[in-house]
Amino acid sequence: MITKIIHEEKIQKAKKYVEKGESFVIVTHVTPDGDALGSSLGLYHFLTTYGKDNVTVIVPNEFPSFYRWMPGAKDIVIHEKYPDFAEQLIHDADVIFCLDFNEPKRIEKLAPAVIASEGRKVMIDHHLNPADFCRVTMSYPEMSSTSEMIFRFICRMGMFDLMSKEAAVCIYTGMMTDTGSFTYNSNKPEIYTIVSELIKKGIDKDLIYRKVFQVYSESRLRMQGYVLYEKMKIYPEHHAALITLSKEELDRFHYKTGDTEGFVNMPLSIEGVTFSVFIREDRDYIKVSLRSVGDFPCNQFACQYFNGGGHKNASGGEFFGSLEDAVATFEKGLKEFNPNKTEEIEKLA
Ligand code: 5GP
Ligand code: MN
Repeated sequence: MITKIIHEEKIQKAKKYVEKGESFVIVTHVTPDGDALGSSLGLYHFLTTYGKDNVTVIVPNEFPSFYRWMPGAKDIVIHEKYPDFAEQLIHDADVIFCLDFNEPKRIEKLAPAVIASEGRKVMIDHHLNPADFCRVTMSYPEMSSTSEMIFRFICRMGMFDLMSKEAAVCIYTGMMTDTGSFTYNSNKPEIYTIVSELIKKGIDKDLIYRKVFQVYSESRLRMQGYVLYEKMKIYPEHHAALITLSKEELDRFHYKTGDTEGFVNMPLSIEGVTFSVFIREDRDYIKVSLRSVGDFPCNQFACQYFNGGGHKNASGGEFFGSLEDAVATFEKGLKEFNPNKTEEIEKLA
């Protein structure tokens, strides 16, 4: 048996929307990761199996090519490519599921259409401090992933039988990627009860791992070598590490969306390094990824210096200015940051 985490009245309200709705849109955060796509496609397959024939997953921008194999991925509408079509679907939707993000800002240019739509909005998410823009807000930061929440949501509606193998594949992909292949946020026994149920649905978990993590291009792997050899700076007195990549460097290695996924985690494999930051030139701003192990609240650091937030051990932010200035801001932060205001951590998202 799995514990009932999601509140019953939220399940019942969302279930009513599922039963009565005809047109469904599922939206998720910018530069979707495995959990964003896994939860969205997992729910997409469930709704389709349930008999709904007007269900669309809409994402703000392109997602990494190593997720294109996921069942249903080819039918995802990318707003950046088809803005009018995407916005019409959002406008017409009876129900809009907002998955794996906690505030409209995280869907960037999709936000105005979602906010304006009269469709009933349901948030299913595991980030801290959800903004109040949905009729039903299922926000449970203790969950490993939004994909795990989709599994629980389907079960709690009493519709486990309508979870197809395709849905199970997507849900597993999200759980696997958001826990670093079950190496963090993954100590709750029920996670493995769920994994066991997904395997019983017929998924090949070993194959899913290979499809996501063992499909690098040669230039991607060489970029990893370059980063480790030349671009990783260690700050031993701060137990910290920094990686930077400029647009020119990314171009040199034929960067494609997703190619730098996982770079920020690499320095954490050095003994004594507990805080790792990756700063890169991304689209029209500087993107900052932060990771930590143990108690260091990198969301607090992200909030204070990079206008961002996230989880205690995995967060992100952005910087408007040059790469050099972003590095200077990071180094200033290292010297002065004092994470002793623990009561503030809870306020960050
Ligand atoms: P990543 O480094 O993989 O882009 O992001 C890691 C986590 O940080 C995400 O799951 C998300 O919770 C959070 N995050 C990333 N970018 C931002 C941002 O710009 N603002 C906020 N508030 N959180 C972010
Ligand atoms: Mn997630």
